[in-house]
Amino acid sequence: MAERRKYKKRFCKYCEAKVDFMDYKDVGALRFSLSERYKIMPRRLTGNCKRHQDMIATVIKRARAAALVPYTVTRKTVVTAPFENLK
Ligand SMILES: [Zn+2]
Repeated sequence: MAERRKYKKRFCKYCEAKVDFMDYKDVGALRFSLSERYKIMPRRLTGNCKRHQDMIATVIKRARAAALVPYTVTRKTVVTAPFENLK
């Protein structure tokens, strides 16, 4: 092997878990695709496939509308582990 990739090949976590349906109430499952500021992670970083990225985007937007996930994060509310207090 002359040249090795620095990181191992990315894979879609949701494909691996064989997720076909996402529930917007299941906030714990969304955390893979949310940054610490509750932004939707881009596909180029998470390695999600198109299908699941579209799903997660819809579900996160629903969760936001239902106030399960905040739209914005102020300096006061930003935390390093955003889902710790939700458990
Ligand atoms: Zn996938």
